[in-house]
Amino acid sequence: MPRPILATIDPQAITNNLARVRLAAPDAKVWGVVKANAYGHGIERVYESLRAADGFALLDLAEAQRVRALGWRGPILLLEGVFEARDLELCSRLNLWHAVHCNEQIDMLATHKTQQPHRVFLKMNSGMNRLGFAPQRYRAAWTRLDALPQVDEISLMTHFSDADGARGIAHQVKVFEDITHDLPGERSLANSAASLRFGQDAVVRGDWIRPGIAVYGSAPDFPDHDIAHWGLQPVMTLASRIIGVQQLQPGDTVGYGSSFKADVPLRIGIVACGYADGYPRHCSTGTPILVDGVRTRLVGRVSMDMLTVDITDMPHAHIGSEVTLWGRASNGALLAIDEVARAAGTVGYELMCAVAPRVPFAAMA
Ligand SMILES: *Cc1c(COP(=O)(O)O)cnc(C)c1O
Repeated sequence: MPRPILATIDPQAITNNLARVRLAAPDAKVWGVVKANAYGHGIERVYESLRAADGFALLDLAEAQRVRALGWRGPILLLEGVFEARDLELCSRLNLWHAVHCNEQIDMLATHKTQQPHRVFLKMNSGMNRLGFAPQRYRAAWTRLDALPQVDEISLMTHFSDADGARGIAHQVKVFEDITHDLPGERSLANSAASLRFGQDAVVRGDWIRPGIAVYGSAPDFPDHDIAHWGLQPVMTLASRIIGVQQLQPGDTVGYGSSFKADVPLRIGIVACGYADGYPRHCSTGTPILVDGVRTRLVGRVSMDMLTVDITDMPHAHIGSEVTLWGRASNGALLAIDEVARAAGTVGYELMCAVAPRVPFAAMA
């Protein structure tokens, strides 16, 4: 029998989540963001349910090739554009739309030989200060692109730094609007958080929203809101089993560094999941975990291949009992990935993306 760890993907949850995001940003077209191998879920595993999106957005040319190989003939957008001139040949061949965020990318386009002019998304740095043209350089870039025979339609794009937080997006929306209000072309501004929180605003939702995390069933603004608040369902479940049981007496310790010490008699379950599976080592005693669909706590330090849970109040728990690290248990109980991420001082995104290659995946029946 293989080691009893399994990541399960629920395609119906993706369908539900996509519909919820559409509801929040009515009439906008939706990029299904599938960068980082669909946030760790596997592009091929999510494709059937994500085909209900209007296009796929990603970063990596190899991932774009995979989406085309699955038979997708609709729009694909390279969110960071091309990395070198040669990449434009693949854009032409696969009909990829691409972001243009710097003058070097315009230089590459200007020397690119193509029969078919490219659709580009001109990116403004409206305050994130990652990729994009500064507002005062944006219109010059637009004019330059517009003059190129290699360029077909120009769409307008920016990205928010605080759509999930207190600062919000108004300052960036204003910068973007001030510069672009009289330019033609479709607009794309909103990630998941902006779509859910501000999607009723026509300027924010624009023509294309770009939700990633919400589609995968994590609340972008947790802990202010959880997935139930947004009507989202968990897509990934990481499950394992108890493979050993120990009885602790007061004073006994558990695991490396003896970081946990029992002050009363405790029953401990040893679970076949560790940081080499992608479970964060930073989760400490108290992190929630489900045993047979009942909430209990992690105790002691997470090791490479195992972690330890408190089953003192679960007399029925035994070797073979189901353990849910995050997602949905067989009895329907939910442990949101966001809760586990928070216990590790990170976000759901990182946990999804970090599930290790040694963990087998299955699609939910
Ligand atoms: C990753 C990414 C998104 C999706 O963000 P979420 O927070 O996952 O919704 C949208 N736009 C760009 C440019 C991105 O890089």
